Amino acid sequence: MSAETLRAGRRVYLDHAATTPVEARVLAAMLPYFSEKFGNPNSPHAFGREAVTAVDDARDTVAACIGAKANEVYFTSGGTEADNWALAGIMRANAERGRHFIVSAVEHHAVLEAARALCKEGFACSVAPVDGAGRVDVAALKGLLRPDTVLVCLMAANNEVGTVQPLAEVSALCRERGILLFSDAVQAAGTLPVNVNSPRVDLLSLSSHKLYGPKGAGALYVRSGVKIAPLLLGGRQERGRRGGTVNVPACVGFAGALRLCAAEREQEHARLFALRERFARQVLAGTDALRNGDAKHSLPGVVSFTFDGTDGEAVLYALDLAGVAASGGAACSSGAPEPSHVLLAMGRSEAQARASVRFSFGRENTEEDADFVAETVIQTIQKLRARRAEG
Ligand code: PLP
Repeated sequence: MSAETLRAGRRVYLDHAATTPVEARVLAAMLPYFSEKFGNPNSPHAFGREAVTAVDDARDTVAACIGAKANEVYFTSGGTEADNWALAGIMRANAERGRHFIVSAVEHHAVLEAARALCKEGFACSVAPVDGAGRVDVAALKGLLRPDTVLVCLMAANNEVGTVQPLAEVSALCRERGILLFSDAVQAAGTLPVNVNSPRVDLLSLSSHKLYGPKGAGALYVRSGVKIAPLLLGGRQERGRRGGTVNVPACVGFAGALRLCAAEREQEHARLFALRERFARQVLAGTDALRNGDAKHSLPGVVSFTFDGTDGEAVLYALDLAGVAASGGAACSSGAPEPSHVLLAMGRSEAQARASVRFSFGRENTEEDADFVAETVIQTIQKLRARRAEG
């Protein structure tokens, strides 16, 4: 079959760090909770009991998957709410201990914007720098610690370049000084082992739609004994810490999806890693791309390239026309005029940050997909360069 025939009508999704499709078994488990088992988990009757049993089971599953106790898991509307809550809830509830906290420079906007809002409330934030691969500089972070530091926020793995953070080192540092550690594990939980005791963290956020569960669901883990103020005020749901009727089908789906990821993790990790490297090798051989991030210590399915002298938006547009879905960095900021804060923090220039594309592999991708996309990327870059040279 010719390359053109292969290409015709083909669409390949390489944007799993933005979102993933709901797994069929997960969807099947969720469906009854939209209709016949529709009860409110707070209702004192059989319909309510049926719903609360489902939520309790989901909580047990999520807790077991991350090494937590069930009563340390709070369901949220996703990663953003969990991130916002971790920062605001901890700083507000522990203000008598201190008003300072630290975030890494490469955190998701859900953390950085929450940090910005806290600064407007009178809290003080320091930003820990990262190295060229996007790994936080632990010595620099140590230098930022103050007697009034209450919280350190360090994600488990970065969403734009995939770099895994030295969480164990930072955990040890925080423990020595009695400082709370929050880790955004939204990207890590689908493909890497995540356990709240190894390395030990006090808070951890999860999002369902990054791991083949439904959108609009997630969780915040809060270690027993940690004081946290509620973010959503209302009823006494989630043991009085988060008002709002729990999204029962979403919790069921989220928990089922996380369980499947945990069961298939090792195999899927190896498969995604091999697929991504097969793809990266071809792109690096066929273009002059710079690879962003840390190839070894990274999310297995994620790779980011800078194609110097191109416009990332134009690359994405051309790839989309050719049937390839990729991303310019954080999904939430795609199309936004600012270059990626992650790439800038890693030392890339503004022009380079704007010339970067993230590819993220997932469950349904095959070697054929990797080869097809690599060839498409190489041709796209050549065409865009030729067009530019023509003026
Ligand atoms: N944290 C990270 C690292 C993410 O990648 C994302 C989503 O892109 C979020 C938080 C936000 O999660 P959600 O989409 O569930 O609000």
